[in-house]
Amino acid sequence: MFPVIADCLRRRAQGAKPRPLDREVLARLRTEQLSAILRQTPNMMLANACNALVLLAALWSTPQHDAVLLWAIVVVTIAGFIYFRKRRRAPGYRSGPHRSAVMSKAIVYALALSLCWAVVPLLFFTDATPGAQLLISCLCAGMLCGGAFALASMPHAAVAFTTPIFIASAITLVQSGGPDYLLITAVLVVYTLVLLRGVFSYAEHMKTCLLQQMESERRARTDALTSLPNRVWFQETVDTEFSRVSRENKFFALICVDLDDFKLVNDRLGHAAGDALLVQVAQRMKSVVRPTDLVARLGGDEFAIVVTSLRVPDDAIGVARRLTQCFEAPFSLGSEEIFCGASLGVAIAPRDGDHPHTLSRNADIALYRAKQNGGLFCVFEPRHDAVAREERALEHDLRRALQLDQFSLAFQPMLEICSGDIKGCEALLRWTHPTRGPTPPTIFIPIAERSGLIHDLGLWVIEEACRAAARFPQHIRIAVNVSAVQLRDPKFAERALRILATAGVSPSRLGMEITETALLSDDQATDCSIRKLASSGVEISLDDFGTGYSSLSYLRKLPLHKIKIDRSFVKDVPTQRDCEAITRGLIRMAADLGIRCVAEGVENVQQLECLRWNGCHEAQGYFIGKPINAEDFESFLARWNPRNIAA
Ligand code: C2E
Ligand code: MG
Ligand code: MG
Repeated sequence: MFPVIADCLRRRAQGAKPRPLDREVLARLRTEQLSAILRQTPNMMLANACNALVLLAALWSTPQHDAVLLWAIVVVTIAGFIYFRKRRRAPGYRSGPHRSAVMSKAIVYALALSLCWAVVPLLFFTDATPGAQLLISCLCAGMLCGGAFALASMPHAAVAFTTPIFIASAITLVQSGGPDYLLITAVLVVYTLVLLRGVFSYAEHMKTCLLQQMESERRARTDALTSLPNRVWFQETVDTEFSRVSRENKFFALICVDLDDFKLVNDRLGHAAGDALLVQVAQRMKSVVRPTDLVARLGGDEFAIVVTSLRVPDDAIGVARRLTQCFEAPFSLGSEEIFCGASLGVAIAPRDGDHPHTLSRNADIALYRAKQNGGLFCVFEPRHDAVAREERALEHDLRRALQLDQFSLAFQPMLEICSGDIKGCEALLRWTHPTRGPTPPTIFIPIAERSGLIHDLGLWVIEEACRAAARFPQHIRIAVNVSAVQLRDPKFAERALRILATAGVSPSRLGMEITETALLSDDQATDCSIRKLASSGVEISLDDFGTGYSSLSYLRKLPLHKIKIDRSFVKDVPTQRDCEAITRGLIRMAADLGIRCVAEGVENVQQLECLRWNGCHEAQGYFIGKPINAEDFESFLARWNPRNIAA
């Protein structure tokens, strides 16, 4: 419908002949025309009745008394009939298919009233006194002007109303002979032509205004980049579908789509490429759904599809599958071809929500599950909601935990294998939940990352580590874990260094452990943070090495001081040959690159000996020491004897 409006407006502006209007635009135009006329109807009918009574009063004492009485009764009856019909019909006239019937009736009523008024000059003018003739002329002129004005939005009705009165008046004047009457006839012709010209230009103007209004409404409801419906339109559609669901007992599905790593495309190839990708995604998704389904862009790389009139809820799975197939072929962005995946969350109404808000939330929960499962689609299940609720409750408690002093740090020693000395420790965050008790960081850190709480929490960890550094011997370096979200904050490095300066702790006594996933996004702000910290003397370690994408390019690109071989490899050293081979390989590679190597999760002497044999620099694990609080860690250091770990 909408490109038609823009085209119409363009043609009108250029003075070219506009194309016939689209059905929906025409329907809206008729609705506006009718509502304009219906607004005027009560006044018009009142004027008709009053004028009829005035004429009756003027001709009451003449021989035409009976005829004029009969005429007045007819006019008042018709006016009253139209008035009361309008009052009954007014609220329902917008309901679509009846519009043209209502319009035809409006023309018929206009014609009927006009014929009544056309009778007046024909029957009563010739025999009337000069005063009554003047009154009849005024009434006819008034009815011509008033009718044309009131019916201006619908030129057909205006013509139907004015023509009989005009013809009858003209005939009467001409028949009356005399030069004065002929001059009055000429004036009447001129007035009527001006009037009709005004009616037609008003109707045209109204049409243009309506088209402009529809165009701006369209703009407010469409996404400028992809031309897809935007959030406003999407919301309207969901609301409409909900009312249909309750009326027709049908299902509809809401599918939320989120592109995987879209930010990467923007960062690596630029925003123009990102925009081109969004446009192609929009086109592909539109091509696999029915025209009655709605594909909307809600913002950024977020899309939503409303799949209407499902026979059975499972039909939505077929649509979701087709949508995921849209992402199988590469997208061509200029000279580059890239693959872009997407995650989809499906919720079906009314089964998964009987309100737009609940349905959207559940589709989002399903989308989140899909993302956690590594992409593709996930259909909402009630148990997902339970998990989401649990997470929300935890997030709520997490927000207050910092003020309520529920966090603490545990310190796990790091052993320098060749000397047998403890050279540092890793600070691990602990949360003692008031009712759940100790809650593992693997549970609450992802929630803190998603909610943004990690920023304050991460700075608190650094402050606390500085306090501990002041207690521990000078040669002990404390490593804190830093999440990807923190590193993406351009102010992070500056804030961390300020905390060190305020606490009077040298940056060389602080280490930061970063996971590979933090580097995956290839984000400029992350690179900057790492470089700034490293150049200030903070030791940077790549944590859980070997579990992620293990792109060796990070080792060349970034100023990394250490890699920490993940516990999953160390666990089966030396019993499993493949684990030993991988561990040995990683140690050699680190040595060749001049990077120190730490083995995580060392639980027994055999592992430690194997690592020593292969030349690993440092070890961390329960065999050396479990994570303990600052006080216990001080005593641990005081008691430490390298012979404790001798084979
Ligand atoms: P990580 O940085 O790899 O920390 C090592 C984890 O392995 C710790 O678990 C530690 O208790 C455990 N561990 C150490 N040695 C052994 C061992 O010999 N055997 C076994 N089975 N486990 C061992 P924890 O404390 O539960 O921490 C888990 C993860 O939570 C950490 O992995 C780290 O990624 C994250 N985390 C902890 N504290 C923070 C923090 O302050 N900030 C951020 N962003 N993440 C943190
Ligand atoms: Mg760590
Ligand atoms: Mg680790």
